[in-house]
Amino acid sequence: MSEDTIFSKIARGEAPADIVYQDESVTAFRDISPQAPTHILIIPNKTIPTVNDVSTEDEAMLGHLFVVAAKLARDEGIAEDGYRLIVNCNRDGGQIVFHLHMHLLGGRPMGRMVQRV
Ligand code: 5GP
Repeated sequence: MSEDTIFSKIARGEAPADIVYQDESVTAFRDISPQAPTHILIIPNKTIPTVNDVSTEDEAMLGHLFVVAAKLARDEGIAEDGYRLIVNCNRDGGQIVFHLHMHLLGGRPMGRMVQRV
């Protein structure tokens, strides 16, 4: 059994969030600390800690994350100008919350893809 996170609670309606979309397999809500004018997190309702934990049975839901991201980008009015989708994994990826999530970021030029170190 995967460990419960704040995101699992948000998906179940047990923790507050600004939910912008929800269906039987995914939930989307605004990031609490937005890094761009649009910063939405799209998560599976099912708890999957990281990309390392996905399996073939998740393929339809994972594809659906992209369909929902494209819909939300249209809804936010950022589809034409463009946006960035990010999925972080574990320490080097910068993952903080261990419930798989896709960041939808836009509303301004997003700059370089990764920081120079
Ligand atoms: P990560 O680095 O794991 O890919 O990103 C986690 C994201 O979740 C961060 O952008 C952070 O601001 C956001 N976040 C963390 N806790 C909460 C919360 O309780 N509510 C919402 N809406 N966003 C959160």
